[in-house]
Amino acid sequence: MSPTRIVIVGGGISGIDLATRIGRSHGRRGRAAVTLIDRNLAHVWKPMLHTFAAGTARPDREQVDFLAQAKRNQFTFIPGYLDGIDRATRTVSITPLGHRDASPPPPPLHLNYDRLVLAVGSRTNDFGTPGVTENCLTIDGLEGAQALHERLRQLALAAFRREEELNLAIVGGGATGVELAAELKHAVDRLAAYGSPSLPRRFRLALIESGPRLLPAFPDHVSKAAADTLRKLDVDVRLGAKVTSADAGGFTLDGGSRIEASIKIWAAGVRGPDVLDRVEGLERSRTGQLMVTPSLRTTKDPTILAIGDCASLMDPGTGRSVPATAQAAAQESQHLARHFEAWQGGDEAPPFRFRERGMIVSLADYNGWGTLGRVTFGGGHLKGLSARAAHALLYRQHQFGLFGPMRGALTWLVDGLDRLISPPVRLD
Ligand SMILES: Cc1cc2nc3c(=O)[nH]c(=O)nc-3n(C[C@H](O)[C@H](O)[C@H](O)COP(=O)(O)OP(=O)(O)OC[C@H]3O[C@@H](n4cnc5c(N)ncnc54)[C@H](O)[C@@H]3O)c2cc1C
Repeated sequence: MSPTRIVIVGGGISGIDLATRIGRSHGRRGRAAVTLIDRNLAHVWKPMLHTFAAGTARPDREQVDFLAQAKRNQFTFIPGYLDGIDRATRTVSITPLGHRDASPPPPPLHLNYDRLVLAVGSRTNDFGTPGVTENCLTIDGLEGAQALHERLRQLALAAFRREEELNLAIVGGGATGVELAAELKHAVDRLAAYGSPSLPRRFRLALIESGPRLLPAFPDHVSKAAADTLRKLDVDVRLGAKVTSADAGGFTLDGGSRIEASIKIWAAGVRGPDVLDRVEGLERSRTGQLMVTPSLRTTKDPTILAIGDCASLMDPGTGRSVPATAQAAAQESQHLARHFEAWQGGDEAPPFRFRERGMIVSLADYNGWGTLGRVTFGGGHLKGLSARAAHALLYRQHQFGLFGPMRGALTWLVDGLDRLISPPVRLD
């Protein structure tokens, strides 16, 4: 019997995990021909993007090379952009990496599938706010994080030479905005030691949130503690402040007041990636994610499954949507890997149940908070160092899943040694 052709698009947290698990077990035995497609050559753990942007971690040290991972785990990797899906012929169209802006554009690559798994993640939602696309940076992908790092680097170098102010504003008081604000403060404090002691004083950072509190997914006391910590670090935390437009000089708020900023970062909300707009006949949520059944198949096409941030699933246990988090993405890929036999053969996989293992937010070296899941841990809270350690542990679990115990442990060790000898902030 010929192997089932499984095509997975998106090598983020859920996609690379699924390709690795199925490749290792079913690819190795010749029961599945697994192909992973991604628009980048390497995988990064997205919850680290804010540290790459701030320069407190280096992407080249943390990334996983797709080709090497594919070779070790019996799957094929194709670098390219998913541009469209022809559901009638079960074909995906891919523009090979590096050819997107070529003129004339190269012919797309076509690839047939028996089962297609979409794991293309999400992008920032600007809710149609005027001026955001043209004037704001986002950190919803490695490119965005690197662009922000480059801007910061240029301004920091200029601020070393001249006693100027460095103004930044972040829109969005969820985990991404809060963690980014703390990481930027941390980076600037470290940079001061490189020859500009007055830099922290000249660094102005505003965090703008339209809701009444930061971290709305966390309990009240965590929101308050996070706001207090940031204010102590001189972050201008604005709550209940709705941004009505962005321009080159900053943000305008509802009521007409202004927040001036030379670097403007939009970190509010998530929505489905653009490519999903071009796939006809699949049901999507209000925010553009693909609606899936509890077995993670898209509602209108059982040969196409969706996992991670690009999928929208109602959790029957809570009556709420499964959150767009790393934890949910990882649980979904593990669920599909476990029940591979069922869905590859056309049967329904058992229903996916999201297990809330808690939520953790880490404010650089300053503080951290976590809530432990009720089901797994019976509720409870983490604070300070234990919460920051638990946050780091999520990443290590992911690496152990990808590399196995031996390489996972070695990677952890090497990272630890690297931290000891590398500068705390990079400006290269
Ligand atoms: C700064 C930041 C901090 C975060 N912190 C946390 C946290 O502390 N805890 C937590 O649980 N969650 C956190 N999240 C959310 C978490 O990162 C996401 O929920 C998670 O990464 C979703 O995984 P995924 O597999 O759906 O997609 P992703 O990990 O986003 O991967 C999507 C992949 O698809 C690829 N792709 C997209 N479009 C195409 C295309 N057209 N063609 C080919 N490839 C494509 C991308 O290159 C990428 O590799 C954070 C997110 C950000 C941005």
